[in-house]
Amino acid sequence: MSPPTLRTASALIAAGLAPAAARETLDAVAERYATAIPPALAALIDHPDDPIGRQFVPHPDELHTAAHERLDPIGDDAFSPVPGIVHRYADRALLKPLLVCPVYCRFCFRREHVGPEGGLLDDTQLDRALAWLAANPQIGEVILTGGDPLALSPRRLARILAALDAMAHVHTIRIHTRVPVATPERIDTALLDALETETPLWVVLHANHARELTPAARTALRALSRRGIPLLGQSVLLRGVNDSPEALEDLLRALLAARVKPYYLHQLDAAPGTQRFHVPIAEGRRLLADLRGRVTGLAWPTYVLDIPGGAGKVPIGPDYLDGNRVRDPAGMWHEVADPAPAG
Ligand SMILES: *Cc1c(COP(=O)(O)O)cnc(C)c1O
Ligand code: SF4
Repeated sequence: MSPPTLRTASALIAAGLAPAAARETLDAVAERYATAIPPALAALIDHPDDPIGRQFVPHPDELHTAAHERLDPIGDDAFSPVPGIVHRYADRALLKPLLVCPVYCRFCFRREHVGPEGGLLDDTQLDRALAWLAANPQIGEVILTGGDPLALSPRRLARILAALDAMAHVHTIRIHTRVPVATPERIDTALLDALETETPLWVVLHANHARELTPAARTALRALSRRGIPLLGQSVLLRGVNDSPEALEDLLRALLAARVKPYYLHQLDAAPGTQRFHVPIAEGRRLLADLRGRVTGLAWPTYVLDIPGGAGKVPIGPDYLDGNRVRDPAGMWHEVADPAPAG
């Protein structure tokens, strides 16, 4: 039998992931923010402050909210026409069928909402959310997120996907998940069968450190890929996790080696109590510029900021063009002839 998921201060202390003296503070953190470390990830933690531990082991600093941090950092609530839907861009919408995750990240931008008590949309709410999508033909893409959609039962997931398949205007379905690294054993035949859709389906894996791509995670990703599902990666730039050129390069290479194309590198969203993870944007740009030319273009993610308040996600560099000059990967500038069209 595999060891249980760690969910309480006592369980963390017993597992050697927190000092007994921290019990009271960690109880206070756990009361405010959900905690879960499944066995596949607990096994990777040597120390609570190592790149895996930092992401998942609760920390006393979470009780301190910095001046710029917000409860709803990217304005999900303001853009929700019905429960479970976030609609910010004309052609696509998020569907959040549940708020449960297999693991709770200490830097999560939805940390005020996710957790085991956040639960599922009930059947009525789910039907209402699906009815909203059916009634809005401009929505070409539905992004299942949460919470973690692959934590749903295969039956419920299949019901949602069948409803989306039946909407002629929905031409792309995307699933944002951490399951392949957090609970890879969930990617079994029943779940894979549930993911069989007529509509093109993309899976976007959230992983932030090369060590998360264990043999079990790679097997799970391989199984998804065998079903014809393209795999993309999204990572958050995090202090003490992937904020060195070596750690970032290792992560991007490990994703590619697992058949995952890095899509986004996110600037940290300013959720409460997450300041210890903050990496300044200028530093993020330098980290990426350092990799340009050294790492295959396939591994290159777009570095994005979700503008606080809900204005949308935009690329934030590094930039290579300045007027009619362009910078090469080594940092040398070159003139570019770019004549205006004649006449
Ligand atoms: C992030 C996000 C998307 C997806 O954005 P892409 O740039 O297409 O990956 C869509 N809707 C909302 C509300 C989002 O926050
Ligand atoms: S898996 Fe995603 S939604 Fe869940 S806690 Fe981590 S960042 Fe938040």
